[in-house]
Amino acid sequence: MLFFVDAMLGNIAKKLRLLGFDCEYFSDIDDSELLEKSKNENRTIISKDQNLIKRAEKINIQSIYISKEDEIKQFLEIREKTHLEFNDISGDVARCPKCNFTTSKIKKSEIINKIPEKILKYHDKFWKCDGCNQIYWEGTHIKNLQEFVSKIKYNI
Ligand SMILES: [Zn+2]
Repeated sequence: MLFFVDAMLGNIAKKLRLLGFDCEYFSDIDDSELLEKSKNENRTIISKDQNLIKRAEKINIQSIYISKEDEIKQFLEIREKTHLEFNDISGDVARCPKCNFTTSKIKKSEIINKIPEKILKYHDKFWKCDGCNQIYWEGTHIKNLQEFVSKIKYNI
């Protein structure tokens, strides 16, 4: 399932990408362009903008209207509509939160001098974005996301 998250919901886009979902997001895109891209690429639109949702429905684009402010509740709204399971976070499935590209495992020996020594010392698994070359490891942001996902799971 592919998504297109509208400009107001950047946090959702980031989280969906880390969970491994292909998720387009631009902080400055106009509605017509967003609709056209979603239609061409068969993406489900996620938005808080009722107008945009209505326009999407008119041209048969799948969409999910987000009415809640709270992030957990927003993910529950997505789950309700898609029946997607949000599994535990793993660096192996995560996409780059910055650019939506896939990431690949990278050896420690290949990134010496590219990231702080402290991080090299305490972590063994590293991934590199296939698009922007950003290097990731299972640090605190992954732990926070794992907590977030377990909150979604137990919020049935
Ligand atoms: Zn990237």
